[in-house]
Order: sequence, then C-alpha cells, then structure tokens
Amino acid sequence: MGLTLLQHRGQDAAGILSHDEKGFHFIKQLGLVSDIFTPEKLNALSGNVALGHVRYSTVGSNEISSVQPFFINYPYGIGMIHNGNLVNFKRVSRELMEESHRHPLTGSDTEVILNLFAESLSKNLNPPKSATPSIQAIEEAVLEVFNRAIGSYSIVTLIAGFGLVAFKDPNGIRPLTLSRRKEPDGSTSTLFSSESSVPSFLEYDSSEEVKAGEMIIVTLDGQITRKVLGNKESRPCMFEWVYFASPQSEIEESTVYSARIELGKNLARKIKVEIAEGRMKPDVVVPVPMTAQLAAISLSEELGIPYREVLIKNRYISRTFILDTQDKREKAVQLKLFPVDSEIRGKNILLVDDSIVRGTTSRKLIEVVRNAGAKSVYFVSSAPPIRYPCFYGIDFPHQKELIAFEKTDSEIEKALGADRVIYQDIDALVESVQPKKGNKRITPCTACLNQCYPTSIEDSAEFTSEREHPGSEVFKRG
Ligand code: SF4
Repeated sequence: MGLTLLQHRGQDAAGILSHDEKGFHFIKQLGLVSDIFTPEKLNALSGNVALGHVRYSTVGSNEISSVQPFFINYPYGIGMIHNGNLVNFKRVSRELMEESHRHPLTGSDTEVILNLFAESLSKNLNPPKSATPSIQAIEEAVLEVFNRAIGSYSIVTLIAGFGLVAFKDPNGIRPLTLSRRKEPDGSTSTLFSSESSVPSFLEYDSSEEVKAGEMIIVTLDGQITRKVLGNKESRPCMFEWVYFASPQSEIEESTVYSARIELGKNLARKIKVEIAEGRMKPDVVVPVPMTAQLAAISLSEELGIPYREVLIKNRYISRTFILDTQDKREKAVQLKLFPVDSEIRGKNILLVDDSIVRGTTSRKLIEVVRNAGAKSVYFVSSAPPIRYPCFYGIDFPHQKELIAFEKTDSEIEKALGADRVIYQDIDALVESVQPKKGNKRITPCTACLNQCYPTSIEDSAEFTSEREHPGSEVFKRG
C-alpha cells in the first residue's frame, strides 16, 4: 500500500526486500506496483522488516539490474534504497576500486553508497566477529558516506538480524519521514517513507521529517537511536512542493497542498498588473492536469476569472516527464490531453502548468489549444524559469536542453508560440513553501533556477557526460 501511494514518484520498476530467520527475500521487476506485487508474491516476502522502492528513470533504457533495493552480502547482509543522485559517484567509484578492490556491478550511484557504507562497517567491527554491528561502527559508516558522497541521498538500509539505519545527506535535499505506531500487542512499528501521505494513510501515530545530516537506527526490537552527524544548512528541493510530491503530503512541516494554493495567489498578483496594463485579457483559467490544478484554482479565485478543465486527461498514459526521447514525449502529449473545442473556441485562454522544462510539452499544449480555436493563449508557470541542470535526482538535463537557458521572456514566448508567458518569481516561490504554522523558515534548494547549488558541483561535467550517454545506469532513480 505504501509503494502504491508513492507510485507517482516512479513508474518504471519497483522492488521489495524483506528479511527473517530464513534469510533475505526479494522481488524486483519492471512495471507498476499493483502489477508486480500480486498476493502470492507478497506472501513470499516474509519477515517483519523490509525495504520497498519505486523507480523513476530519467534517461537510458530500463534495466532490471539497477532496480532497487540493492543488496550486499558482507558484512551481515545489507540492503539499501536511495532517493537522490551523487554528483561525484564516478570519482568515488574509481576510488573504491583502487582502495578496496570493490568493483561496481551496475554503474548505479546507490551501489557506490552501499559499498562505501559496507566497507567502513566491515573495518570498524569491534570485536571483528561481532554478531551485530555496534552503534559506533554504524555511525562511522554513515560519516564515511557523508564525508565522501556529494549530492542528494535519503537512504534506508536493512542490516540482517539487526534492523534499519536511515540517513539523509547533510543538506537534506530529498524528503524522508520517520513515523511510529503502537501495535495492539504493545510493540512499536517504525516506517521510513519519502512522503508523509504514506504514514497518514497507514494510520501511524506520529510522523516527522528526518533532519538534514541525521542518522536514525531502529533495532528489530523497536529501540531507536538518533544523531545529527552532518551540520550543513537544510536545503530541501523546491520542486517537491511545485510538482513532485503528492498534495496530501507535508515536507519540512509545510503542506504541498497549501504551497500550491499560494503559488497560484502569487501568480494572480503578477497577472493583475498585466491585465491592468492591457497586455492580457484572459476569459478563462485552464489547468494542465494534474499538478497545476491547485495553483490554477487559487489563481482563478484571486482574478475572479472562471476556472475550466477543458483539457481532458487520459488516465491510462504515464507522465510524459519520464519518457526517454523527445519524439515519444511529443506524441504522448497529444494522446494524453484532449481539448474540449466548444469551450475553447474564440476565447483568450490562460493555461497554467507547474513548470516549463524543455518546452516540448508546453509548446505542444499551446498548439493543441490554438488548434481548438483559442483567440489567444497565455502560458503561466507555477515555477520560475528552469535555467540550470539538476544534479540531485530530477531530470532537468544539460542546460542547452532547457528552454529558459540564456533566453529572455520574450524569446521564450516566441519559442513556445504563446501570446504571453508568465513565470513565478523566485522570492514568491520561497515564500509559498514556508510552513503556515509556527516559526520555522525553509531555505529550499533553488539551484536549477539561480545556480546556487548547495553542494560542490566540481564533478558535474563527468556527471553530465554520464547522463548524456544512454548506456549509463546511474540515473534510474526512485
Ligand atoms: S536543482 Fe532544482 S530540482 Fe534539483 S534539487 Fe535543487 S531545486 Fe530541486
């Protein structure tokens, strides 16, 4: 159920690894969670501790070898799941080969983190043949990852016969929640999840965000040890609120739903000026389903202009975002959204989308709405212009592929074929993701908007070169 609730984070493959006294049990397969995990298959995954993962491929072909969870047999038997990307995985992978003769099998950066962790753990066992690792040895292993792995990584590991170890990179770029539930027999269940919608649905008693740089160890008897080992500034990805996370979820105490409503209100303020100065005269606000709907609703309310869902989504086609070629993405847009011509003809349409990345989808949508008879098409983006690549797990590729890179707003309008393009401002975006209660301030990562990368990107050229070669396995992430 948890994986099904996270299916929007990756639809290419899924896997579960469980452990009990008989050993490890795992199933990994390409496809959707509901197709892979039939009741018979789930019955084979025995044990009271497990890891589950859904995978999101950004480039390259689908390979079963890179579907998570990953697993290593020494020491103890360790399973690992990872959300994020390492900028320097190639360098660390080479170092691991030179220093420890650990040869990667898959080219995945998750495998690099797993080997870093396992190598350190095996060196710090005290006594060397201890039946379970000490808290200190685990801490050393997490610190080894923090010291050498640069990028984003929310990680959960399963150590056979011991329990779970979760940790988040020192900048806390990708989300991870810790939840606990008292069971009727008096025991306590613990759940780590990328989004808080999972513990909420599964009726966990409490849920909180794992802190940036925090390590959390949960032993099989439910004992918990927490320690913040990294001390950098927390920089959660802004795109989780704009697009990626489910609206039911809360990240860093800020709900995705209310952030999207705020994004729409901010855009309305800009559009009011445009209308007052005669540059736009929208008749109707139209959302691009599904992630732009909330922003479009609040935008329409603020402007007092009707909201109409006149692009009808075909629910049986997956997100164009994760298709691997330009050609496939263009064709999928036509199939995916069907216009209601009678509601569009002769009107000035204000189209609202969550973001504009390559521009392929936006250009096609504008064309679809024009072909349906629109008088003018204004395009509004909930996110500011995406001008720089993401090295932390979102498929914002090489800057030359991004439509906003080195273009002015009017050049973007021309490239998209829109009568007007309106973007969110960065400051307004930062305000929109702030928690509506309490005093907490969030400083999100906005690197793809303004190049302020929270980590070193010294190895980004090698990262980009791997991303551009479809043979690479490293970008298949969930
Ligand atoms: S670069 Fe952009 S997409 Fe990547 S983590 Fe930062 S904000 Fe998110």
